[in-house]
Amino acid sequence: MTYQDRSKAEEIGARVEAFIRDVVAGYERDPRLEDHGPSDSLVTELRDKARAAGVMTPHILPDGGHLSQRGTAHVLQKTGLSPLGPVACNTGAPDEGNMYLLGKVASADQHERFLKPLISGEARSAFFMTEPAGEGGAGSDPSMMQTTCVQDGNHWVINGRKTFITGAKGASVGIIMAKSEEGASMFLVDLPDPAVKIDRLLDTIDSSMPGGHAEVSIENLRVPADQMLGNPGEGFRYAQIRLAPARLSHCMRWHGVATRAQEIAIEYACKRQAFGKLLVDHEGVGFMLAENKIDLQQAELMIDWCADALDSGENGNVESSMAKVAVSEALFRVADRCVQVMGGLGVSRDSIVEQLFREVRAFRIYDGPTEVHKWSLAKKIKKAELSKQA
Ligand SMILES: Cc1cc2nc3c(=O)[nH]c(=O)nc-3n(C[C@H](O)[C@H](O)[C@H](O)COP(=O)(O)OP(=O)(O)OC[C@H]3O[C@@H](n4cnc5c(N)ncnc54)[C@H](O)[C@@H]3O)c2cc1C
Repeated sequence: MTYQDRSKAEEIGARVEAFIRDVVAGYERDPRLEDHGPSDSLVTELRDKARAAGVMTPHILPDGGHLSQRGTAHVLQKTGLSPLGPVACNTGAPDEGNMYLLGKVASADQHERFLKPLISGEARSAFFMTEPAGEGGAGSDPSMMQTTCVQDGNHWVINGRKTFITGAKGASVGIIMAKSEEGASMFLVDLPDPAVKIDRLLDTIDSSMPGGHAEVSIENLRVPADQMLGNPGEGFRYAQIRLAPARLSHCMRWHGVATRAQEIAIEYACKRQAFGKLLVDHEGVGFMLAENKIDLQQAELMIDWCADALDSGENGNVESSMAKVAVSEALFRVADRCVQVMGGLGVSRDSIVEQLFREVRAFRIYDGPTEVHKWSLAKKIKKAELSKQA
């Protein structure tokens, strides 16, 4: 990262951190926090405040440029200091990854129509890839995709079922993946649309993302041909363009969340007594906090290493795979230890640590479960060794 880049990221990060701690944290008990995420009215209010504080979409610069991944890491970690921070500052999933993808692949017209309202935080988006497991659809293995798109004159007609679609309820921009004769393709669609029906919202362990996670039926959705994103058959390549930085930005935000959990656990352990001394003075507790500090530091180094790879122009697939596994597993350990340090309070909703733990758990599954990343790395290790032996 250049000196200029670093000082810009640090300046933005400082403003973001102040906003999250002074303003957003005050909303963490807001009654508009529903089981399926913050309500639209809460999101609007938080975003109005972010705009007023000059921290809306802070990783995208006023001239349309994007902070380096290294700079983004600094800023997104700060937005993660509250589970509501990414929603407020418009750095959350799936919008952040969708904006990145549109920035790389969308045409000038698509920029104007679909990307601009996302960057300003007036619109939300959803990414439609996963399909119901019970119906044999795409999950860990995207090649199992069943949703189809067929060209009909100047339109494409899409049919299929999707699940776990974060933010589909309330989104006005959708990116839908479907398979055509040429291979997987991506489409930009306006939402809501009667042909994209939300069948139900899933009751999941996490609760920070607006709109929750939806199961969706797509029936004869007609999409004008100029709303295809890029070229037919390139959908999986575009998914890869989106995935490496999107995985990494999850690492960044959840690192902020785990840092906050650690702060709260430290405060508890340094105030609460048991058996005549502070909890922190019991070796079992002190060690948990020390292990957290080590895990957080290692996770940050993995994030920065992967960010540097992306900033140097590499596709970062291997780095982001490794970072995603290392960071999601480390942050889960951190959050779990924070719960443990805080005893009963750690599992009760009297403390935000309970939610932070739930949020971090789901991260070991989406954007590639840990085992899928390890499996894919193992295949690369084997291939490299066999080609050496040949
Ligand atoms: C909170 C949340 C939000 C999500 N948001 C979105 C979204 O917005 N859009 C979207 O399209 N999808 C979304 N998803 C879906 C997510 O991408 C999938 O859950 C993920 O790809 C795994 O697919 P699956 O759930 O079908 O699990 P499965 O494919 O059924 O896999 C189950 C388990 O099998 C194991 N496994 C699978 N393959 C291998 C292998 N090769 N080696 C070893 N073990 C393996 C892993 O442990 C894995 O966890 C979201 C999921 C969650 C939990």
